[in-house]
Amino acid sequence: MKRCPNCATTYIDADWICPACSFAPLREAGIPILAPELAQGGAGFHPEAFAKLAAVEAESFWFRARNRLIILALRRYFPQMQRYLEIGCGTGYVLAGIADAYPQANLTGSEVFSVGLPFAAVRVKNAELLQMDARRIPYTNEFDVIGAFDVLEHIKEDETVLIEMHRALRLGGGIAITVPQHPWLWSQQDEYACHVRRYQIAELREKVSHAGFTVIFETSFVSLLLPAMLVSRLSQLKSPSNDDQMSELHLPSFINRIFEGVMNIERQLIRLGVRFPIGGSRLLIARKSEICE
Ligand SMILES: [Zn+2]
Repeated sequence: MKRCPNCATTYIDADWICPACSFAPLREAGIPILAPELAQGGAGFHPEAFAKLAAVEAESFWFRARNRLIILALRRYFPQMQRYLEIGCGTGYVLAGIADAYPQANLTGSEVFSVGLPFAAVRVKNAELLQMDARRIPYTNEFDVIGAFDVLEHIKEDETVLIEMHRALRLGGGIAITVPQHPWLWSQQDEYACHVRRYQIAELREKVSHAGFTVIFETSFVSLLLPAMLVSRLSQLKSPSNDDQMSELHLPSFINRIFEGVMNIERQLIRLGVRFPIGGSRLLIARKSEICE
């Protein structure tokens, strides 16, 4: 069911018109804009980053490998997924991978910055898209799975977002989350990306549990490449004038291929049951296990 972002009334209506308060969102190119005050971004926001991302995602080892790991986990824990919501879908690269893996599923992509959504609309023709504030998810008891991939670290009120995700899920549904890990890996890349934090392992687990979820799977990843990541971070410390902060995504193609190969090995190990204690990122899967009001 939908939940009015204005008055919290729950209702069923394809057009987003609240029967209680008549709230109806603006639309941009047909996409509902539910939180217009946030849609254009604030200080430190880099709208041009979306076009850059859209140009590099399909070739970058990082986005390709992360997609494969996400889909491995979704297929294992949510093979029957019918209704999926993504928070912070950006340019829709993950959503497109999920559309391929679950051709029958009903997909919704959401993003706070409306500039990303036209890219997603081109990539994923059959998804419903909307602009929203993840701290006020406009659904109740609606989805089988909600994904947020490298999103929570951008949001100060991450615990609010987790509670909102819990309400928007059906009982037995679950979340799939990736976040950057280890505060000691903090670098200029995090600052450029407007991260609020890199997570500690226990911190993420506790916040997820506190929101009413049962964690069913978690692992670090980008573990085998952690030494290369450290070298990259250290070389930035030496030359802080490096102004291309997306340089980690612009690798010579042979290095990109090697890194993708390493990530493939890592994923096979995870598939076989290996859990890495440290790594640049963390993947967590959890299930909605109780009513949390
Ligand atoms: Zn309303």
